[in-house]
Amino acid sequence: MEVGAPRTITYLRVSVTDRCNLRCQYCMPEDQTFFDRSDVLTFEEIRSVATVLVDHGVRKIRLTGGEPLVRRDVHKLVAMLKAIPGEPQVVMTTNGSLLARQAKALKDAGLDRLNLSIDTLRPDRFERISRRPGLPDVLAGVDAARDAGFTGTKINTVVMGGINDDEIPDLLDYAAARDIEQRFIEFMPMASNDHGLAAQRVPLSEIRRRIEAHGPLEPCERGSGPADRFIRKNTGARVGIIAAISLPFCETCNRLRLTAVGTMRSCLFEGGELSVRDLVRSGVGVEQGLVDALEHLRRIKPVVHEGYGYVQMNQVGG
Ligand code: SAM
Ligand code: SF4
Repeated sequence: MEVGAPRTITYLRVSVTDRCNLRCQYCMPEDQTFFDRSDVLTFEEIRSVATVLVDHGVRKIRLTGGEPLVRRDVHKLVAMLKAIPGEPQVVMTTNGSLLARQAKALKDAGLDRLNLSIDTLRPDRFERISRRPGLPDVLAGVDAARDAGFTGTKINTVVMGGINDDEIPDLLDYAAARDIEQRFIEFMPMASNDHGLAAQRVPLSEIRRRIEAHGPLEPCERGSGPADRFIRKNTGARVGIIAAISLPFCETCNRLRLTAVGTMRSCLFEGGELSVRDLVRSGVGVEQGLVDALEHLRRIKPVVHEGYGYVQMNQVGG
């Protein structure tokens, strides 16, 4: 792996748990075993790490997983992170299935925005892709987020050929009707899913062609995010494509990851792992240790990843 220029890290993705109430085929195996609970960072330990990183440039913290909403009282973690001096943005990626019950508590705790993962609007497909029923709960979560006052919500869809790629128009309409930005994601080959699904990867160019079949696109600013963003000329709706394989965004990647068991990672695919759990639990030299870890990890981010992740998405905080 060739190492790139040191990055300025402004974005921390925190996997608050590797557990999930779904078993999406592209994310984890059906018979997944999970981390021992005693190894998982407490809310206070996550706050300790986040406090130092915010003090050293992190401006945005994304709570992800696994499924963040299966972690009990996760809204309390949101409030703890929002109270960190420096006022980071705190956002969340969720499958939405437990959101209807929690949206208001999350909003009250100060959560800034939500990304919802929805691969299909058809209940039978939902069950096939995620190996669990529950699409109505997810759709209720979308409404609950709006009712709780969330704005700037995005929907993320992993596009898989022959599985859900025919739903691109339906998803565009569903999102546009709710003033939500729809984003399509290329399937990424990771440790748990290298059995077959890679063949279903729909590349950036094809995703774009499929969207354009339903109306022309005009490119708009990319920002610091991973998505190629467009405006649909016929509706004015925004749409994004995240193509970590066809068009890696390593050069502008400003993120670090913290896994549920306290491992900091410089890259989703290439690793660069450093466990900070024992450091944080020891309570000794925590700030300097975390600053050293940050300095090391920002210097070993790859020029470009090689396109295969040797860990599972739910463990690394996709
Ligand atoms: N459980 C939450 C959810 O599904 O939104 C958060 C964790 S999940 C790992 C985060 C995101 O990673 C989801 O949008 C999911 O679709 C995406 N994801 C998981 N495995 C993927 C893969 N192999 N390729 C592309 N995206 C993937
Ligand atoms: Fe769970 Fe999200 Fe992985 Fe699906 S993608 S199994 S919802 S963690």
